[in-house]
Amino acid sequence: MTKRKLKPKVRKALLLAVLAAAIILLLFFVKSLSPKGKTEAQIPVPILTKDESRALRRYNNNYHLEVARSKGLEKPLLSKDEYKTNAKEFGNRYQLDKITDNKYYEIPHLTNSLPYLQEPAVEFLELLGEEFCEQLEELGMRKYRFSVTSILRTLADQKSLRRSNVNATPNKSSHYYGRTFDISQTRFFERGNSKPVYTYRLRNVLLRVLIKMQDEGKCYVLLEGQTKCIHVTVR
Ligand SMILES: [Zn+2]
Repeated sequence: MTKRKLKPKVRKALLLAVLAAAIILLLFFVKSLSPKGKTEAQIPVPILTKDESRALRRYNNNYHLEVARSKGLEKPLLSKDEYKTNAKEFGNRYQLDKITDNKYYEIPHLTNSLPYLQEPAVEFLELLGEEFCEQLEELGMRKYRFSVTSILRTLADQKSLRRSNVNATPNKSSHYYGRTFDISQTRFFERGNSKPVYTYRLRNVLLRVLIKMQDEGKCYVLLEGQTKCIHVTVR
């Protein structure tokens, strides 16, 4: 008799226990989804030293051109027409890999270039992303993605760029050869968030990684003041 009377109470207690466990699990799950670390605005990053600034101007465009010409595409492409005619076959024809948004970087809508690079340059970008994230983690920061704003240019692209940008020299762009790309100095994205963050702090972290990779002989890095770009050629 007593046993029967207690039963609903026991059931209620059990139900509450299950509910409490579910809430705790849910809280853990939500916590695991929220980003680890602080935002870029919460962590100070030292500005570039004179030596670092010098390292970013050490290799002018001639160095970029020389390595891009000797290792990259045999000759510049005329225009985007052949890409437009057969986009699927385009990469195969020139042994170029298409790059798309991933956890390390975003590719915005490109107007004066195509999202193609040679394999070593694609691998380099992946490594850069990895090392950038490691640095952010060391600083106690969340993960951010950088933005690759200009990639493989055709002669026609360069011609149209020349109208708006003095850095875009007529026949001397390393962007023709599939080993050069530009990264925005100011535009970043917190991982998992599509709203851009404009900051020089992240740029300085990224530039330090690039200087290290340049010292290792993996690339040339040039800080372009006028276009707010980091011009990188993979060696
Ligand atoms: Zn460039």
